[in-house]
Amino acid sequence: MEYSNAEKINQDAITALEKQDFHIAQDLFRKNVKENRGFISLNNMGVFYFHEGMELKNGKTRCANKLSLRFLLAAEKYKHSYANNMALGTWFFEEGEHKTAEGYFRQACSLTPSCSGYNNLGATLYLQREYSEASLYLGKACSLCEGTDMIEKVYPSYLFSLIKSKKKKKALSVLHQILSENVTELETAMSLKQDVFIVSYLCNDMQFAEKQIENMLSVYSVDNTIMAMVFDCLIKVGKENEIGKYLRHQIEHLEGFDFNRNAEIERIKKISKHASLRERDISEYSYFPSTITECCYIGCTKHNVDIGFVL
Ligand SMILES: [Zn+2]
Repeated sequence: MEYSNAEKINQDAITALEKQDFHIAQDLFRKNVKENRGFISLNNMGVFYFHEGMELKNGKTRCANKLSLRFLLAAEKYKHSYANNMALGTWFFEEGEHKTAEGYFRQACSLTPSCSGYNNLGATLYLQREYSEASLYLGKACSLCEGTDMIEKVYPSYLFSLIKSKKKKKALSVLHQILSENVTELETAMSLKQDVFIVSYLCNDMQFAEKQIENMLSVYSVDNTIMAMVFDCLIKVGKENEIGKYLRHQIEHLEGFDFNRNAEIERIKKISKHASLRERDISEYSYFPSTITECCYIGCTKHNVDIGFVL
């Protein structure tokens, strides 16, 4: 295959990146912007600064997010592309500018529907409290994530968006469906054990939630808010005699804290005794949906294959 000079420099830069030769990659991306200013060189320079920061002569790295945005926006003037929109969407998402991020993810999805595009669009909508629309796109993301490790990010966000849009029945049926279909992927995903408990608890399926408690706490610790749900769940299924056991478990966990240890321990003791405190803590629980960051380098054959799109 014949490469143009621009493509050749770009490929060399990407090869350097794969070898983690960040200085060489940065020099090559800069050279390409200088000699072959255009969509590819500008986008990739922007992606590099965003993911890697700026490599300095003394071997240190500094954040180059502002500079990254300038390059990504300059690339956008040449061409609307999936990768550039995804990169810009992620940039604005991380800055907390969700309305702008939403626009970029929307555009990315309209160019090339993908699991990560729909997931990220759903996540920005969720954080803007547009739960119903979020659930629509997160559902689309779920249908595209089968058999990949994205499943552990996408499904919890979908379930929480359903709960927030008052579709608890649907959330429960999706939960049970994925538990029966994707057992192995879900068992390896630690954080999902917690989500399975919280989702079934929030959907008022206390019998099923109670069955998850032992399993969830045997693998890792939870915060006091989730412990409040555990206590409430035990009471609702008539097992308040087990509260003491889990309270001791939580105190042992909190004793390992460096920060605010005693205050947290006092708090969980109170939570175990007072329904009003439990209610308040539980009502303040909030889920934070995560984005899926893609590589976004134009010409990177390694990642672009995985996510199923052609640039
Ligand atoms: Zn890549």
